[in-house]
Amino acid sequence: MNDVFPPLPVPRVVTTDGRTIPVHRIHCIGRNLADHAREMGATPASPEARGRPVLFQKPADAIVTDGRVPYPSATHELHHEVELVVVLGADAPAGELTRGQAEALVFGYAIGLDLTRRDLQAECKAKSLPWDIGKGFDHSAPVSTVIPATEIGDLQALAISLEVNGEPRQHGELRDWIWDVPDVLIELSRLYVLRRGDLVFTGTPAGVAALQRGDRFVARFGTLLTLEGEIT
Ligand code: MN
Repeated sequence: MNDVFPPLPVPRVVTTDGRTIPVHRIHCIGRNLADHAREMGATPASPEARGRPVLFQKPADAIVTDGRVPYPSATHELHHEVELVVVLGADAPAGELTRGQAEALVFGYAIGLDLTRRDLQAECKAKSLPWDIGKGFDHSAPVSTVIPATEIGDLQALAISLEVNGEPRQHGELRDWIWDVPDVLIELSRLYVLRRGDLVFTGTPAGVAALQRGDRFVARFGTLLTLEGEIT
């Protein structure tokens, strides 16, 4: 190889036992909890006739693992969306996954924030433009350490939550998702080849709101994982 310049460092997340996982892509699903879809002015999909989910991506190097998030450029409305993050540990077979194949891809879970420049996203929505500038910016994906799936019991029995400056902001029960983890992976597999190191942000509950410089946040996945950080 005769690279013109050396490659940039590969973004990595850390497991609860101190190993690292190189991140390949960051996939996200929108409007996966009915209460949040409503607060954004959308009609939530019903489990019986849910159609296709809203999917988008962030760049892999949007990952933040030390909790320090610089307030982003070009926005006056930075919003938090606390989300469970699925971490894939294997490459998917070709084609649309079965539920069993989807479950077998999962290495573990983290708690993260799908940070959003809400004013820019709203402009994009109003003009029927892609969401990239509202969602896929630098430092837009703070994540916790990753707990292996083998150390978790029934995912559907767990909850995610967010406090900002000690005040509760968001709380969601994972049994209330419209698309559960295998469902989300199956939907993604219709459109993309899923690979080891892919992260999937699985959607946020109601209560999204603005963050200001100096705000301190604590996101929790049950009592299993905590992500603490600050907007700098
Ligand atoms: Mn989100």
